[in-house]
Amino acid sequence: MTAYPSLCMIIDGERVSGGGRRTHAVINPATGAALGELPLAAPTDLDRALEAAARGFAIWRNTPAPQRAAVLQGAARLMLERQEEIARIATMEQGKTLAEARVEVLMNVGLFHFYAAECQRVYGRQLVRPAGQRSTVVHEPVGVVAAFSPWNFPIGNPGRKLGAPIAAGCAVIMKSAEETPASGLAVLQCLLDAGLPGAVAQAVYGVPDEVSRHLLASPVVRKLSFTGSTVIGKHLLKLAADNMLRTTMELGGHGPVLVFDDADCDRVLDVVVPHKYRNAGQVCVSPTRFIVQRDAFERFRDGFAGRAAAIRVGNGLEEGVQMGPMANPRRLEAMDRLIGDATAKGAKLLTGGERSGNQGYFYAPTVLAEVPIDAAIMNEEPFGPVALINSYTDEAAMIAEANRLPYGLAAYAWTSDAARQRRLAREIEAGMVGINTTMIGAADAPFGGVKWSGHGSEDGIEGLMACMVTKAVHEG
Ligand code: NAD
Repeated sequence: MTAYPSLCMIIDGERVSGGGRRTHAVINPATGAALGELPLAAPTDLDRALEAAARGFAIWRNTPAPQRAAVLQGAARLMLERQEEIARIATMEQGKTLAEARVEVLMNVGLFHFYAAECQRVYGRQLVRPAGQRSTVVHEPVGVVAAFSPWNFPIGNPGRKLGAPIAAGCAVIMKSAEETPASGLAVLQCLLDAGLPGAVAQAVYGVPDEVSRHLLASPVVRKLSFTGSTVIGKHLLKLAADNMLRTTMELGGHGPVLVFDDADCDRVLDVVVPHKYRNAGQVCVSPTRFIVQRDAFERFRDGFAGRAAAIRVGNGLEEGVQMGPMANPRRLEAMDRLIGDATAKGAKLLTGGERSGNQGYFYAPTVLAEVPIDAAIMNEEPFGPVALINSYTDEAAMIAEANRLPYGLAAYAWTSDAARQRRLAREIEAGMVGINTTMIGAADAPFGGVKWSGHGSEDGIEGLMACMVTKAVHEG
């Protein structure tokens, strides 16, 4: 039985807590019980983290890539050894099922191995010049990265925020979510135990706006990497602009799923229903608006509702549970508001639509059909266990609906028509398109959005190059 660890910040390789600092109670969303008290940074803590990171960058940018790779590989091995412990911690503080938390650890392991290899292949180039002259293009680590990550992937988000910058030779000041701090601390600890110099990566917590204002205004920081809502993303971009920071912004989505008459309806349902309710729908690439062609509509709608109603909801630590609680009470309130608004405007509630259990933050898997386009939930990211299913006649109208919102993160389409597959891949405005699949994330594939879903990518070569700047050197 894993005990929830005592909480701290990690600055310059040291665990920092106590000292009269303010604290934040971390809550188990399955029970409502307090797990621990997280120390929050004072300005002096943030200054110490900045000073350490500046020093860490000077060390790490001059550390040969094979040594950086060895640290990432060592951390990956340690994460695998500690998989069960880290997964249990994540489930305790975030609520998702243990099976999903274990997958998050494996995502980090894969990403760290990928970047361990890829950071040794960051080639520059030499330009064609007359004899006696030389012009070269080199890629250098951007510097200190301020990395802010949310609570929905308490292991995977910190893995992304640390993996690429460390591979590139940057230093990091990470603030993972105050609601799920222990998972991110466990990931950082694997890196430190694998030999990462303490000054290279810090974990701080605090009042988010205080921390981000302090760090983003510092001349030490050269890049902001943020995952979270579009609203906060826009706010942080403005702060980043004042200091001319490079930015990678992974923001909200409103995943459209186009299901055509020619798709195998049962197979689609078998794949998309579990994908919808993964992490209780609190996933930026969650499929949300099901845009179903008319002949398939009734079968799809009824099959979806039947499967959703059969999902076993409970404490993620228990065997056989398929969906845990919402991560925090804000999401419960959002579900009540959005679903109430939709049904008041005429949407048909097929299953769910209410809280469940007598403790914790559980919400029943919910399906709404024939949802009016002016319902808030058709326009605002629900970030919860709710599917919206509407019927359309032709392809053009379905693509128009997919592209209607300012979001463009993940989109999915199901059709057996090869020519249509190519048209959809071209016409849908999204950073990631899954055709006849929901598997759109992989260590070697860029992950990111367009429009209000943000810019830049994590993962893949793109995620590594986003941590580097280009320098042209001319010798006469
Ligand atoms: P929020 O926007 O208040 O917070 C999202 C994350 O950003 C949290 O981890 C929070 O600590 C952090 N944050 C907030 N203000 C910050 C600041 N000034 N500086 C630095 N970090 C800051 O939202 P929330 O209530 O936690 O979640 C609500 C919405 O956020 C969801 O509906 C969803 O749209 C979005 N969200 C998106 C993702 C994603 O993966 N893209 C993840 C979590 C939440």
